[in-house]
Amino acid sequence: MSDIASNLAEISRRIAAAARTAGRDPAEIMLVAVSKTHDDAAIRPALEAGQRIFGENRVQEAAAKWPGLKAAFPGIRLHLIGPLQTNKVREAVALFDVVETVDRPKLARALAEESRRTGRRPACLIQVNTGREPQKAGIDPDQADALIALARDTYDLDVRGVMCIPPADEDPTPHFRLLAGIAARNRLPVVSMGMSGDFEQAIADGATHVRVGSAIFGSRG
Ligand SMILES: *Cc1c(COP(=O)(O)O)cnc(C)c1O
Repeated sequence: MSDIASNLAEISRRIAAAARTAGRDPAEIMLVAVSKTHDDAAIRPALEAGQRIFGENRVQEAAAKWPGLKAAFPGIRLHLIGPLQTNKVREAVALFDVVETVDRPKLARALAEESRRTGRRPACLIQVNTGREPQKAGIDPDQADALIALARDTYDLDVRGVMCIPPADEDPTPHFRLLAGIAARNRLPVVSMGMSGDFEQAIADGATHVRVGSAIFGSRG
């Protein structure tokens, strides 16, 4: 077994264990394998091991890497997990199945226009800046309900849930719980939170999707 396949197996085992500890069904937790900065040679072993959900943070990089892999391996679902500029919306809608980073009205409107134009309607998550960090993407937690309503009801986007990246230097649990609460009160099923260092805690706090990169593919140099 390749290192990447054995890392994947180990992460899956830890996800299942964390789910059981939390009294949850392991099948409720989706693993998004974050392949940003890694090339074809790293991604193929993950595909061969059966992984089909991947996260990328840059539209351009994903557009160079994924069309060939999508043709070779059926059933791939690509998640955009990095910031999306409105001038990249066309390319993003063509390539991604899930846009996890909808964080402002202008972007929601651009996605709606592109969906209307193409008939392609990616699932969307609303990114929430739970730590209110000025340099970080995401809607302020106090404005999350309004953006969810706008995206879902006014723009008719396929809003499935919420996503966050907690501040790097804090206990993530209050952030995870804040995000899970926003999902619950808006009756949204998807809660995307938790990375290599904290996905087990995220599962304890209600994650349905964990985004794991370096623990699968190794460090990003
Ligand atoms: C890079 C990245 C991850 C994965 O981080 P790791 O610590 O490598 O697991 C998850 N989510 C987002 C938004 C990222 O940019």
